[in-house]
Amino acid sequence: MGKKKHPFIKKNDKVIVLNGKEKGKIGTVLKVNAEKDRAIVEKLNIVKRHTKPGGKRAQGGIVEVEAPIHVSNLMLVCSKCAEPARSGKKILEDGSKARVCKKCGEMLDA
Ligand SMILES: [Zn+2]
Repeated sequence: MGKKKHPFIKKNDKVIVLNGKEKGKIGTVLKVNAEKDRAIVEKLNIVKRHTKPGGKRAQGGIVEVEAPIHVSNLMLVCSKCAEPARSGKKILEDGSKARVCKKCGEMLDA
């Protein structure tokens, strides 16, 4: 149970990359590692991995996989503003909390 400093990024979120080689690109979060504060973003930060022959695979080779990106380099994107959004919290009628875009009020939870 680590500290969750960045709980604002969740699976299926649309995020923009703020730093690094993928700066400015937008993708969908596939997986979040809250312990390490890292997220896998679809088709971003692709690295080549060598696979060993054996097992179910007949031969080894190179596969391209998404490498985790530190969440401090990611920011939620508002689908309405189509730009990085500061998220605020809103209490819904049923008492649950939702994240909303501070600018336009659009819900950021899918
Ligand atoms: Zn917005």
